Amino acid sequence: GVDAGDRLHLIDEILTPESQLITTGYYAQLFADMQEGRVPQPFRCEQEYLCKDGSTVWTEVEVIPYLNDEGVIVELLGITRDIRDRKHYLDELRASRDEVALANAALHEVNEMLHRLAVTDPLTGVWNRRHAEEFLAHDVAERRRYGTPMSLLILDVDHFKDINDTRGHQAGDRVLIEVTQRLMANLRTTDVLSRWGGEEFIVLTRHCALPEATAIAEKMCALIADEPFGDAGTVTVSIGVAELTSGDDVDSWLRRADGALYEAKAAGRNTARSAR
Ligand code: GH3
Ligand code: MG
Ligand code: MG
Repeated sequence: GVDAGDRLHLIDEILTPESQLITTGYYAQLFADMQEGRVPQPFRCEQEYLCKDGSTVWTEVEVIPYLNDEGVIVELLGITRDIRDRKHYLDELRASRDEVALANAALHEVNEMLHRLAVTDPLTGVWNRRHAEEFLAHDVAERRRYGTPMSLLILDVDHFKDINDTRGHQAGDRVLIEVTQRLMANLRTTDVLSRWGGEEFIVLTRHCALPEATAIAEKMCALIADEPFGDAGTVTVSIGVAELTSGDDVDSWLRRADGALYEAKAAGRNTARSAR
C-alpha cells in the first residue's frame, strides 16, 4: 500500500509476524505459478494488521488475480474487511465455552465427592453399611440367578472397648484404620470390605464356598494378631463365616454369619467359626 506521504509501507510495519508469513507465502506461490505457467489462484485468509497505537485489527483479506488473454496478471484485486466484531464474538464464545467446560469439570468433581461420601465410611475410607446393604442384596439376587457360591465374613475387634478405655478414643480410631489397611492389602479384587458399624466389618468373598472363605478368615485373624499395633499393642479379631445358601435372604445370611461370630467369641476370641 501507499500512504498519503507516498511512502511505501513495508510488510513488517503493517502486519503481525504470523500474518506476514501468510502474505509472503501467497505471493511466493503466485510468482511460482506464473513462472511455471499455472493459473494463479485467488487467495483468502485472515490477517492481523498493526495500528499506530500498538493495537491490532483483524481483517479478512481476499486477493483475486486478473489475467489478460496471454495469461499475464494485469491486476490484483484486493479486498480487506474489518472482522474485529466477528473475532471478538468468537473469542468470547471460546472463552465462555472454556468456562462452561471448567464449571462442568468442577460439577463432576463435586458429584464424585458426594457419591464417595454417600458410600464410604469417613474414618476408614472403606464402603459404609448403606453401600454394603446394596451390594449384599445384589449378590443374593445374583446367587439366585447363577448359583455363584459366595460367603460372608463378619469380623469384630476383640475387647475393643478396653483399647478405647486404656489408650483413648483416638488410639481406638487408629486401630480401626490399621485393621482396614491390613485387610485391604490382603483382599482379592473380587472381595469387598465394608465397615458395618463401630468395630465391626464385613467382607463379602465372591466365588468363595465355605472352606475357602473359612481359610481366608483364619488368615485374617493371623494378619491382625501377629503384628502389634504400635502403642495399642496386640489386637485380635474374631470372625464369623457363612456361605450363602439357596434359601437365604440378606437377613438370614447375616444372622448365620453373626451366630458364627458369637461362637468365635465364646471359643475365646482371635479365631474364626463357620456357620453350617
Ligand atoms: P468383644 O470382644 O466382645 O467384641 O468386646 P468389645 O469391647 O470389642 O465390644 P463392645 O461392643 O463392648 O465395645 C465396642 C466398643 O467400640 C464400644 C464403642 O465405644 C467403641 N466404638 C464404636 N465405634 C467406634 C469408633 O468409631 N471409634 C472408636 N475409637 N471406638 C468406637
Ligand atoms: Mg468387639
Ligand atoms: Mg462389636
